[in-house]
Formats: sequence, C-alpha cells, structure tokens
Amino acid sequence: MKTVAVTRIGSLRDPDESTRGRIGVVDLPEPALGPEDVRIRVAYAAICGSDPHLAEGFFGTDVPIGLGHEISGVVEALGDRATRSGLRVGDRVAGNFLRFCGSCRPCQEGKQQFCENIQEYNRPGMAETLTWHESQVYRLPDDVSLLRGCLLEPISVAVRIADKTRVRVGDRVAICGGGPIGQLALQVMKRHGATSLTLIEPIAERRDMALRHGAEFVIDPIAEDQQARAAEITQGRGYDVVIDASGSPHAVRGLLDVAAKGATVVYGAMYPERYELPLNLSDYLYLKELTLTGVFVSPYAFPRALQLLPHLELDELTQAVFDIDDAEEAFAVHVSGRFPKVVIRCNDIDDGTAS
Ligand SMILES: [Zn+2]
Ligand SMILES: [Zn+2]
Repeated sequence: MKTVAVTRIGSLRDPDESTRGRIGVVDLPEPALGPEDVRIRVAYAAICGSDPHLAEGFFGTDVPIGLGHEISGVVEALGDRATRSGLRVGDRVAGNFLRFCGSCRPCQEGKQQFCENIQEYNRPGMAETLTWHESQVYRLPDDVSLLRGCLLEPISVAVRIADKTRVRVGDRVAICGGGPIGQLALQVMKRHGATSLTLIEPIAERRDMALRHGAEFVIDPIAEDQQARAAEITQGRGYDVVIDASGSPHAVRGLLDVAAKGATVVYGAMYPERYELPLNLSDYLYLKELTLTGVFVSPYAFPRALQLLPHLELDELTQAVFDIDDAEEAFAVHVSGRFPKVVIRCNDIDDGTAS
C-alpha cells in the first residue's frame, strides 16, 4: 500500500539538493489484522512539526521511514475480538499512534508515557490503510468532519501540556511558539481560565492568528524587549505558567525570565539532541522556585481531547490539503511555513454531512 516515507536522511531545509532529506511515496506491506486490531482506511494525515526531525534521523536512520501519526479515517475491518469499545465497520475515527500495553510496570504505575512496549503499534499513518489496536481508536463525534478529526492527536498534546502546567483558573499564562501546538495550547489554556494570555512569536501571521483565537497579548521577541513587555503585561510579576511550543534554542532560555516566582515552565516541544539549557540554580530554582517540566507523549489525554474537538476553532489549521501522490510537495509547503498546518488526503472518502 502507498505510504509516505522518508527516503533519504537529511534536513528538509538543506539548501543543497544533493544532501537534503527526501520524502517520497513508497509501497509498504499492510500489517496482518490481529484479533484485537482495527483496520482504518485513512482519510487525512496531517504533517507534524516533528516529522522533519524524523527526516533528520532522530529516531533511526534506516530508510524508508514511514510517516504520519495525526490521522482520521473510516473503520474498514475489525479483528474477531476487537469488540470492547463498540467500534463498527464504517465508523469515522481518529486516535493515538501509540498503544500503551497496560501490562508493563510503567503502565501499571500510571505512567503510560514510559510504556516499555510503546513502539509495538506505532505504524505510519500517511498511508492508504492503518492497522491499530482497538485501544488506540476513538470514534469521532457526528458533527466533527474527518478533515478536522485528524487534529485529535495534536489536540491531545495540547491537553497533555495543560495537564503538566497544573494551571489554576485565573493564572497568567504565556505561550512561546505559534505553530499548531502553540495555537492549540492557547485555545485549551483559554478554556482553562488563563489570564493575561500571551503568545510570544516572531512571525506576524502567527501572532495575528493567536489574537483571532483568544490571545490577549502578543510579543514579538525579535523586535520587542520580551522581558520588559512581559513585566508590563503582568504588572511586574511574570507569568504563573509558561509554555514553550517552539522547540527553539534561541527562545527557551528567556522564558525563565518571564516566569513569575513559583511558576511552572513546560518545555512542550522536541529539542535538538545536543542542546543544553544554561540554568542558574540559585536564581531560578532556589530564589524563584520554578518548576521545569516537559512532555514526551500524551497518555490519558485522548478522551478529553475528543471532548474538546468540536469546540475548538480549527479552520485555519485545515486549509492546505494535498493528495498522497503529492506528498513531496506537501512537505515542501510545510517547510516553507506558508500555512500553519498541511494535511495529506490519503483516500478520497465521502464524509456524509459532517462539516
Ligand atoms: Zn505530532
Ligand atoms: Zn506498557
């Protein structure tokens, strides 16, 4: 079956075409349908900010590396015992690309993100079909289209980020990075009762997008004095919750200075493997008592992401759609940053009446 894959390791931004990472459509075998498995005919698979990291060999260098973990589709077949969540052939679904096994020690200790068998069902979703364990699959609400449904996974990341902030109603919140995760985290934090809600982002289009969806303030960290602006917005106190969704080494250090005393700072992106954050323990952990944390994957977040899905404003994230045969072009457009999100149509599926 057709699958979008990394076919040559390298940076997708490399100006030299002979060494640039390459994306192509390859033919990979369809996995067997196990008794507890669900086969999904994939409708849409969105490109994630982490996909270019895969092209650079972050999780391995043996090509082809199949891509795609933000998907929606229609159930095509069910294993004999895939009955526990009530799924039926024809159901419109989305889900979690990781299966948490439930049997290993971390799973039993409430830390599914560290499941020791997490990769077992991590299969490429930018493909004609995708075979998952039934525990990974969630039926979409009737009023959510397949196109919007492929955003369930990034929404689950925003939910998990919110969990890690331990935000309280009324907390002052800043988010750094206006890509899809930053924008979704903004909408989720707004619904959490965030105040002084601020997006820190150098690209004007992304700042404007945040202002359309609930940000009260924006800071351009290049043109403005970020710390001074943050002090102005928060009456000199700083933000109670600071979220990084940029993954940028240039951006992450300054976030410690916009955080209030006692704040939580969530580094919620992927970072360059060898980057080290300079951290003055006396200033930031002793005197300011900051809590620094991060997000690897999103356990326990999907049911709540599904509840939020119909209520979030997602139209701006679903404007750019490319057919699977044009995947290479889709990735070029993703890298260009022309659209906040790029989606690949893996099959042309009639979506009934959902909008
Ligand atoms: Zn993703
Ligand atoms: Zn496990």
